[in-house]
Amino acid sequence: MSTATEARLVPFHRASLGEEEVEAVAKVIRSGWLTMGPKTLEFEKLFAKYVGAKHAIAVSSGTAALHLALEAIGLQPDDEVLLPTTTFTATAEAVTYLGARPVLVDIDPVTMNIDVEDAARRTTVKTKAIIPVHFGGQPCDLEEIGRLAQARNLRIIEDAAHALPSEYRGKRVGQISEFTCFSFYATKTLTTGEGGMVTTWNDAAADRIRLMRLHGIARDAWKRYQSDGCWSYEIVEAGFKYNFTDLQAALGLVQLGKCDFLNNARRKIAQTYNEAFQSLDFFSVPQELADRRCSGHLYILRLQLERLGCDRAQFIECMKQLGVGVSVHFIPLHLHPFYQRKYGYRVGDFPVAEKQYDRCLSLPIYPAMSEQDVAKVIQVVTNIAIRHERRPFVSRGRAR
Ligand SMILES: *Cc1c(COP(=O)(O)O)cnc(C)c1O
Repeated sequence: MSTATEARLVPFHRASLGEEEVEAVAKVIRSGWLTMGPKTLEFEKLFAKYVGAKHAIAVSSGTAALHLALEAIGLQPDDEVLLPTTTFTATAEAVTYLGARPVLVDIDPVTMNIDVEDAARRTTVKTKAIIPVHFGGQPCDLEEIGRLAQARNLRIIEDAAHALPSEYRGKRVGQISEFTCFSFYATKTLTTGEGGMVTTWNDAAADRIRLMRLHGIARDAWKRYQSDGCWSYEIVEAGFKYNFTDLQAALGLVQLGKCDFLNNARRKIAQTYNEAFQSLDFFSVPQELADRRCSGHLYILRLQLERLGCDRAQFIECMKQLGVGVSVHFIPLHLHPFYQRKYGYRVGDFPVAEKQYDRCLSLPIYPAMSEQDVAKVIQVVTNIAIRHERRPFVSRGRAR
């Protein structure tokens, strides 16, 4: 490794924001209209067009998007909702907001997405919905999930926080199931700092979500301030304060315009990683299935621990010492104190998720990475593995 490569620090993430975004936000500030208004409507319209959805409703976060979709299906206390244990807590937390029970499901060892057969086994008369999470950006098997949902009368709410833009059998995620929830959190593929979006083809549900995202006011409040608007309004529900803002929309519009370009940049990095790591038996690289296209939000490298004399924590420590940012997605929900205390989950409940968790790590993957950054990650990761290689036992006979 040259000293220049050694000295280079590669953070786990850097947002892809430029002067265009700065200028767009500055324009909104100068316009004087900061909260939800015309820019938000424009962003919703273009986002719906981009993913091929009938309705797109912008909200304050991906978590709010999940909450509003679950509220729109009329989820009741004690209802059950299926979701993978390998996800961020928001997926399950939104279910608890309505007093319902998140029912955790094991994952598929290849895609790390929800194991639909295991989901079927855990379906009861109380099960009302399933939340498939497109882990890292590779879509779940939505056809198989659709069959389960139809057979057991479940609503489908996709957690697509990682899946912009992803495709399943030639269709963009966002146009397939009844509901799809996106996140525009700082680290996601399209960011507005914080923010989220629900897409749906259900007209009545779209109306309900628009109503509930802003205090249950019967007409969008911002219309009150338009010159042709009316001062009067009606509160018809106890809604939420989950609206988007025009500052976020200005950012989102610029980011949406770059979405394909940024996606190609991520996919190129993933390909370079694959080429470097797939021939080494220390690792298994993520597999993109033939009928899917991944957003490239995460690059999950899995360690073949039987080939290494170290565990994942030690591997990560070495990467940090050598200046490469790294993360882990995710600590399965059933290993966290809250889900154990509240729902009785225990270590050992989801063997596939635990096995994959023990050996996975997430490498830096973002368009702002230079070729040298990518090369440094490859060198560091490969060198650590070689340094910790566990050689198969070879008997040292006299012939030596
Ligand atoms: C980021 C994320 C969310 C929540 O999104 P926020 O916008 O941060 O509320 C939900 N699910 C998954 C899988 C996520 O990674």
